[in-house]
Amino acid sequence: DTIGDNFDRTVAAFGDRDALVDRAAGLRWTYRELADDVNTLAHGLVATGIGKGDRVGIWSPNRAEWTLLQYATAKVGAVLVNINPAYRSHELAYVLKQAGVRMLVAAEAFKTSDYAGMIEQVRPECPGLEHVVLLGTDSWTSLLDAGRGGDPAVLAKLQAAQSADDPINIQYTSGTTGFPKGATLSHHNILNNGYFVGELVGYTEQDKVCIPVPFYHCFGMVMGNLACTSHGACMVIPAPAFEPRATLEAVAAEQCTSLYGVPTMFIAELNDPSFAEHDLSSLRTGIMAGSPCPVEVMKQVIDRMGMTEVSICYGMTETSPVSTQTRVDDSVERRVSTVGRVGPHLESKVVDPETGLTLPRGEPGELCTRGYSVMLGYWEQPDKTAEAIDAARWMHTGDLAVMDDEGYLNITGRIKDMVIRGGENVYPREIEEFLYTHPDVLDAQVIGVPDEKYGEELMAWIRVREGAEALTAESVREFCTGKLARYKIPRYVHIVDEFPMTVTGKVRKVEMREQSVTLLG
Ligand code: ATP
Ligand code: MG
Repeated sequence: DTIGDNFDRTVAAFGDRDALVDRAAGLRWTYRELADDVNTLAHGLVATGIGKGDRVGIWSPNRAEWTLLQYATAKVGAVLVNINPAYRSHELAYVLKQAGVRMLVAAEAFKTSDYAGMIEQVRPECPGLEHVVLLGTDSWTSLLDAGRGGDPAVLAKLQAAQSADDPINIQYTSGTTGFPKGATLSHHNILNNGYFVGELVGYTEQDKVCIPVPFYHCFGMVMGNLACTSHGACMVIPAPAFEPRATLEAVAAEQCTSLYGVPTMFIAELNDPSFAEHDLSSLRTGIMAGSPCPVEVMKQVIDRMGMTEVSICYGMTETSPVSTQTRVDDSVERRVSTVGRVGPHLESKVVDPETGLTLPRGEPGELCTRGYSVMLGYWEQPDKTAEAIDAARWMHTGDLAVMDDEGYLNITGRIKDMVIRGGENVYPREIEEFLYTHPDVLDAQVIGVPDEKYGEELMAWIRVREGAEALTAESVREFCTGKLARYKIPRYVHIVDEFPMTVTGKVRKVEMREQSVTLLG
């Protein structure tokens, strides 16, 4: 199936049901209304000369037009290029040139981001960029006007001319560990992935899904939008960028049945001063993903938010993204403490990163994924693609995992984040989980810093709960003593208000390591 054909089928089946709600704009669409606007926009793209394979960039926080463009480009066969709204001019120029973007659709401005200004600044260095359309301005209205009254046969022909294996989307990775890479994804990759994610949390046309995670990332556009549209569920955009209160309000006002977030978002919601004011009783399920999901946070999501069927997903942009997922019928213990088993039509294995040989169950090694969800490759970076995907089409994730006898996986960290202290492998994740059990700890991250004696030493960065006593390095170490092996007890403790983050809400350990080296002199 192509994304356009799948969307049309949903519209035919559930035309009168709610499809999309943009809370900040105060706008809502049924599936039939959404289809009208998507088709108008698709005709507008055609009238502007955009065709199959052309790259169309989208650079905006979450808003309904993002979703409209996602489906309109899919119908035309243009490749949507997701651009991180936190980027600045230098990064924008990189993506525009690297992906060869012909048309850029962007928000005019948001908070401190002057998107229009930055586009003007880089335009001279991007000769391939022919069209710039600013949302909410005349250029957007003109694009829609150009598409009004378009002949449906034109779109039908464009949809029929596409194959499910054509590239349809370029998504840049989060840039947690370095410079973002453009994963090139087909209809087949992302449509199936969205479909199965929705299937495993049991979506139907009765569901309403609150999506505070960014659309520019696969969590928003695949696990959010595509999971919804492939099952007839409704997409709810609580706010352009994540705000805990607006998210909780959206759940209550729209009676959402599902809520998404990376762990830091759920932590912010659970600790928001307004938490108790919101009626969250409509929530049934949801997805936590994107970085290690602390057991404590999972338990609170179930107990305090009532998300009894919440699922943890693990994946990466390069695999569309989801490759493993917990399921409703897994035991609660497994649902809070593992990333589940491999998804339908996918394979997983854990290998020795040095030899590439599959390891026995229970031994930590590099997780590899194979199957329909593995990207076509990194856009115009064949060397990087060859490093990541081997000849047998296994994607080497760079993540460390342990698989138990029944196939449940535990992600123990990234290979790049593993600390080797005095010859012992230390998995920061394990120490982070332990620190979370301290009543005054709001959030904890553990990194390795260079050390003359041990090669590396452990440093914990801690965010302290409001109103809690000031934690000291001594008190933290005392808390660990007798409960963690001595070599796992952080030597340094750094108390902070915020961690350096990517816009997808992931902690940038690379940056923490750099700052720590400076801190320690
Ligand atoms: P970059 O590749 O640019 O450094 P990134 O890897 O963070 O950035 P993404 O593709 O957004 O970019 O994220 C995928 C990574 O997120 C995975 O490789 C894994 O390290 C982490 N991850 C995702 N889900 C989970 C999860 N449920 N538990 C633990 N880690 C997760
Ligand atoms: Mg990655």
